[in-house]
Amino acid sequence: MKLFRFGTIDDEKPGVILKDGRRVDVSGFGEDYGEKFFATDGLSRLQRWLQSHGDRCPVVGAAVRTGPCVVRPSKIICIGLNYARHAAESGMEIPKEPVVFFKATSSLCGPNDDLIIPKGSQKTDWEVELAVVIGKRATYVTQDEAMEFVAGYCLHNDYSEREFQFDRGGQWVKGKSCDTFAPLGPFLATTDEIPDPHNLRLWLTVNGETLQDSNTSDLVCNIPYLVSYLSQFMTLVPGDVISTGTPAGVGLGLKPPRYLKPGDTVELGIDGLGTARQIARAYESRGSL
Ligand code: ZN
Repeated sequence: MKLFRFGTIDDEKPGVILKDGRRVDVSGFGEDYGEKFFATDGLSRLQRWLQSHGDRCPVVGAAVRTGPCVVRPSKIICIGLNYARHAAESGMEIPKEPVVFFKATSSLCGPNDDLIIPKGSQKTDWEVELAVVIGKRATYVTQDEAMEFVAGYCLHNDYSEREFQFDRGGQWVKGKSCDTFAPLGPFLATTDEIPDPHNLRLWLTVNGETLQDSNTSDLVCNIPYLVSYLSQFMTLVPGDVISTGTPAGVGLGLKPPRYLKPGDTVELGIDGLGTARQIARAYESRGSL
C-alpha cells in the first residue's frame, strides 16, 4: 500500500494511492496515519476496509497539496555519516558506531512545500535520504527481528544549515530543525512494496543539475542494524521516522561549497518511493517579531 496525506497545512487528511495510480481520500476510514494507527495494526485494517470501500472513495485532484506522509511523529531520528563517500567529502572518518541526532518534529512538511531558508542563513544544504517508518513499539530488538518493526519507507530531504550545525557549538540539532527542513513523502510505501530497501537508487538535483546519485546498497549500517541499534538507547514508537543518512554530493562537499538561495529548485527521488520538489525561498517575518 502507498499512503499519503493531503490538504492544507496542519489539517491534512489521509489518502491511499491505488494500484492504478489514482489518489483517493480515505477519511471515511476514520483514522490518520499516526502512532495509534500503526500501533493497532491500522495497515491491515485499512487494507481490508479498502476492499469494500475503495471504489467509493473520492479521488484527490492532482492540484491538491500533498502533506507529509505521516502525522507528526514522536521522533525524527537521523543517522550521520552513513555513506562512506559522504563521510570523506565532509572531512570525517566513518564512525565506529552510528552518529545519531534528532531533528525537531516541527520541521516536518510536505514533499513539495517551499523550503524556507532560515533567518540569517548562509549555508542551507540538501541531503536526499531513505527514511524508515516504525510500525511497532521497539525496545531492545535484535537485528534478526528488526525488520518486523518497520511499517514502510519514504523519501526524505534532511535539510541542514551548516553554520548552525557546525559553527554555533553544541549538537547538530540546531542545523537540522528549522521549519520545512524535513519534507517527507510523497508517500509511505509499506514493506511489501519495497522487496529490497538495500538496493534503491537515490538522487537529487538542484536547478536540474544532478548532484547526488547513489544507491542504498552503499549504506554503511543497514536498516536492521540501525533499528536494533537505536532500540538499545530509546523505545522506537509506531510512526517514528528514522532517516538513514545521505550519500555524497551535498553542497558542503563541493569545491567550492555551494548552498541554496531563494528561487533554487531542488528535486529528489528514490526508486519506488516517488519524487519530491522544493523551491527555496527566504524567511519572511509574519510581522509579529
Ligand atoms: Zn542527513
